[in-house]
Amino acid sequence: MQILTPKDPEWKQFCGKLNDAIHENGCDSMTLKNSDTILRRDYPQYDSDATLGYFREHNGFCDCEVLMNVDG
Ligand SMILES: [Zn+2]
Repeated sequence: MQILTPKDPEWKQFCGKLNDAIHENGCDSMTLKNSDTILRRDYPQYDSDATLGYFREHNGFCDCEVLMNVDG
């Protein structure tokens, strides 16, 4: 399975969903809980665990850091 990165056509839509989820649920500043939920629910074609690993490698250690550091 592949990982979801900013190069994928689904990336902008994923960021929109993540932004909405952060506004609704908040970010706990420690985990990628919202990202994980969205990936598993809406993007089953991507490997969630590997994608979260990619986010961490790009300084996305919590959900809002994905929008700040990975998306760019
Ligand atoms: Zn955060």
